[in-house]
Amino acid sequence: MCRCIQSKSPLKGYVLIVPNDPTKGIVKCTCLEKRESDMHSRAGLSNSGLTERDLIYTPEDYLGVKSRRNLAFCEKFINEFGAYSGYIVYFYGAVGTQKSTVSRWIGATLIKQGRTVLYTSQQAIINNLMDFSQEKDWMKIYRTRDLLIIDEVFDADKSVVYSTGNHLPHFDRLIRERHASQKPILFISNIAPGDIDIKKFGSGLKDYMCRNLIYGNALEFKDNYVSELSGDRKTATDLFSF
Ligand SMILES: [Zn+2]
Repeated sequence: MCRCIQSKSPLKGYVLIVPNDPTKGIVKCTCLEKRESDMHSRAGLSNSGLTERDLIYTPEDYLGVKSRRNLAFCEKFINEFGAYSGYIVYFYGAVGTQKSTVSRWIGATLIKQGRTVLYTSQQAIINNLMDFSQEKDWMKIYRTRDLLIIDEVFDADKSVVYSTGNHLPHFDRLIRERHASQKPILFISNIAPGDIDIKKFGSGLKDYMCRNLIYGNALEFKDNYVSELSGDRKTATDLFSF
């Protein structure tokens, strides 16, 4: 039982400063503070692309040891979030290597801390930015969230590449505008940054990405747990032999 229930405070969620003397005033109880912060987190989740499930993930839920040290970097990124303004964080690895799960945990944790986050895919961004019938100002949404997480980037199979190349300026502009306003982006891809196909995504964009990587490095994820279940998928080590 919480101490606000035991306390003779007239308001639930509050505790008397001096026990048995309501004239000395009341303070918020820890249970109310927790309820308020949970409510705040849930509000932050709406329109974030993340769910309550992401709020309960912890680094202890990560499976495997090969890329576990990436989690330490991620915790540093969360705790020192303001220090990474304008940088690009790049996760890559095969399907099932927990890249999305880890990035969703980062997003949810930042929401808990009161930051604004959007988790989306490259295809969704391109579709929204090229659909001029939309009333929503997507560019503004993508530009202003404290962290933008873009899944399935630079993967020609997952992202419909318009033969005209008309999509490039929009995507390119978004990345540069976020950089200009000192806001980080987290990219998730099956492709190592050095292997981005410049025919499909442009050499300018690729060079720009590689130049602005946090600590000059991308984070490779190698702990593949989907392949062991389905059997037919390649592991990250098979795809990128370095
Ligand atoms: Zn209480």
